[in-house]
Amino acid sequence: MIDKKHLNEFIKIVGKENIYDDKAHNIAYSYDATRTRFEPDAVIFPRHEQDVSDILKYCNKHKIIITPRGAGSGFTGGALPASGGIILAMEKHMNKILEIDTQNMVAVVQPAVINMDLQKHVEKLGLFYPPDPASEEYSTLGGNVSENAGGMRAAKYGITKDFVMALKAVRVNGDIIRAGKRTIKDVAGYNIAGILIASEGTLAVLTELTLKLIPKPKYKKTYMGVFPNVDSAMNAVFKSLSNGANPVAMEFLDKLVIEALIEKLGVNLPKDAGGVLVGDVDGNVPEEIEFQLKTLEESFKENGATSFIVAKNDEEAKELWYARKNASQSITIYGNKKLNEDISVPRSMLPNALEGIYAIGKKYGFKIPCFGHAGDGNIHVNVMIDISQIDEGHKCIEEIFKLVVKMGGTLSGEHGIGTSKAPFMDIAFNKEELQLFKDIKKAFDPNNILNPNKMGL
Ligand SMILES: Cc1cc2nc3c(=O)[nH]c(=O)nc-3n(C[C@H](O)[C@H](O)[C@H](O)COP(=O)(O)OP(=O)(O)OC[C@H]3O[C@@H](n4cnc5c(N)ncnc54)[C@H](O)[C@@H]3O)c2cc1C
Repeated sequence: MIDKKHLNEFIKIVGKENIYDDKAHNIAYSYDATRTRFEPDAVIFPRHEQDVSDILKYCNKHKIIITPRGAGSGFTGGALPASGGIILAMEKHMNKILEIDTQNMVAVVQPAVINMDLQKHVEKLGLFYPPDPASEEYSTLGGNVSENAGGMRAAKYGITKDFVMALKAVRVNGDIIRAGKRTIKDVAGYNIAGILIASEGTLAVLTELTLKLIPKPKYKKTYMGVFPNVDSAMNAVFKSLSNGANPVAMEFLDKLVIEALIEKLGVNLPKDAGGVLVGDVDGNVPEEIEFQLKTLEESFKENGATSFIVAKNDEEAKELWYARKNASQSITIYGNKKLNEDISVPRSMLPNALEGIYAIGKKYGFKIPCFGHAGDGNIHVNVMIDISQIDEGHKCIEEIFKLVVKMGGTLSGEHGIGTSKAPFMDIAFNKEELQLFKDIKKAFDPNNILNPNKMGL
């Protein structure tokens, strides 16, 4: 329950129509995509940057915990008020596209603009914003920057951080700061934007984002290769990239996923397939597309692909993508609870990592269907359990993380740490590194009021 005195002060800042402390709102803002729930004491909708500044200053002075929130689609509990306090919900007012600068190819947006809304808006101007998390239709750009979200197009274009040119943010003492510039080059001062990207709302509240755009490629084609086993699919990834292919996406499905897609959704894939690679190539001239597809086909076949298909039209492209887009829901045939991790390894380690993961699954008796972004080494590893096996499931995940880190990889390629991966941070970082994170947190947030106890901080 929020103290009446504080509630009245917040009403003075945002007006009573922008703060709620009733049960319905507290429940509505108590969850994210982890499905874990923590109720806040109140939900505040700031109208603009100055409100954010006034609210943070007040919270800092009175040591009131506050958690920024975009769409609440996070997979690791970042937007959950795990330590109580207030939710700072950006979605209601701070959702405007402020400027599209076509000459410099830059968008300036408020943090709660939905990713897809920006994509659609700039496409009308012949421009392109490539980062496309699968949650693009509802996740916010502020949430994307705070998690450094990836997506299907990362193989060619990179991830959110590659498109952030500058940020405006509010510190807990209410100071409004700028980080970065609308310039291609900027080496003056510390790279504060670099620290705020992926900081999961623990250091400052983002209030404005300056994002890089590129010209929209004119041509696109979708391809699919079917392989007898994981190794041949993975070798085809390395081979085609080193042969000069530069696919927008190169997504992988393993045997368990293929079997689930056939059994649950009747997807038209060969029953004996051991791996699938599916993706798009794009470019500005037809010859570029031809080169890309020829390189992929040759490299895939050299590595044992039993088929290589190119979609002739949008309808066929949709059909090829259907398998990948429904991978996640198909694998529920293997267990009523999915422990979904998004490990990332240097691409060359993918075959060994997958072999090791399947061996760990065998040891625990769990099926671990894997799919995801093979083109950039980020794989969704799904430990399928019965809900009663949760403790064993967590032990299995801990072993997977240890294996991945040993191979030079990391706990998360895109979903972040939040609350759910916090217990595993000491697998990936040593004592000194964790202390440095804590020192950075303290420099930004000395009273530990901003989204505390996240990321193992
Ligand atoms: C079906 C589904 C598919 C997904 N696919 C992908 C995918 O392909 N790639 C991927 O990377 N992720 C994916 N995600 C995860 C999630 O959508 C991303 O992490 C996304 O970036 C979160 O955005 P959001 O607006 O929902 O943020 P929230 O979940 O609301 O918040 C995420 C974090 O950002 C912080 N935050 C939000 N706004 C601000 C702000 N203005 N200032 C400071 N901190 C802020 C929060 O405190 C929290 O720590 C998926 C999720 C779902 C449910």
